[in-house]
Amino acid sequence: MKIICIGRNYVDHIEELNNERPAAPVIFMKPDTAILPKQFPFFLPEFSNDVHHEIELVVKICKVGKHIDQKFAHKYYDEIGIGIDFTARDLQSELKSKGLPWEIAKGFDGSAIISDLSSKNNFKSLESITFELHKNGEVVQRGNSSHMLWNIDEIISYVSKYFTLKTGDLIFTGTPAGVGRVEANDVLEGYLEGEKRFRLQIK
Ligand code: MG
Repeated sequence: MKIICIGRNYVDHIEELNNERPAAPVIFMKPDTAILPKQFPFFLPEFSNDVHHEIELVVKICKVGKHIDQKFAHKYYDEIGIGIDFTARDLQSELKSKGLPWEIAKGFDGSAIISDLSSKNNFKSLESITFELHKNGEVVQRGNSSHMLWNIDEIISYVSKYFTLKTGDLIFTGTPAGVGRVEANDVLEGYLEGEKRFRLQIK
C-alpha cells in the first residue's frame, strides 16, 4: 500500500506558513514504513529540532482505479479516519529553500499516525466533517472538510491521473491552521466528529 498526502489544502494553513495558494493540489508520498504502530509513543527523531503536528482527515481506498472521473470518485473510498502528518519543519524548510524534494522531512519512520477508520456511511455529511487535535488538553487545530480547497472526490480524481490507486491505499487530505512543534512529554489527542480517536505520547 501507499500513503498519498495532499499539501496546502486549507487556506488558513497556507497563510500561516506564507505559502502560495497552489493552482493544483500539492502531492507527496510517505512510505508504508512511516506508519507508527498503534499504541506506540512517537519518539522525536534526532535529525530535527522542530517536528510539527498536522492533523488531517484520512481516507481509505477500496477499489483499484486510475483516471477516475470526479463523479465516480465516491465509489473508490469507503472509510474515513484522522491522522497526523508529522513534519520535520526545519528540514523541510531547508530542502524547500534549495528547491529539493522534502521526502525525508515528511516520510521518516513513525511520521504517519492513523486512527481507526469508520465507514463513510456513518457520517452525516461528507462535505462537513469536523476534526480536532488537542495538545496537553487544549485545542490546537480545528478543521472542517467544508474548508478544503479540493474535496475528497476532487483529490481522488486528480491523484489517479498520475498514480493508480489500489485497495488499502491511504490519502491524507491536508491540514488546517494551527500546526506547531511537539516536545517530549506532550500528549496529542485526535477527535473526529467530537469523538476521541487516538491518544499519542511524545517521547
Ligand atoms: Mg500535511
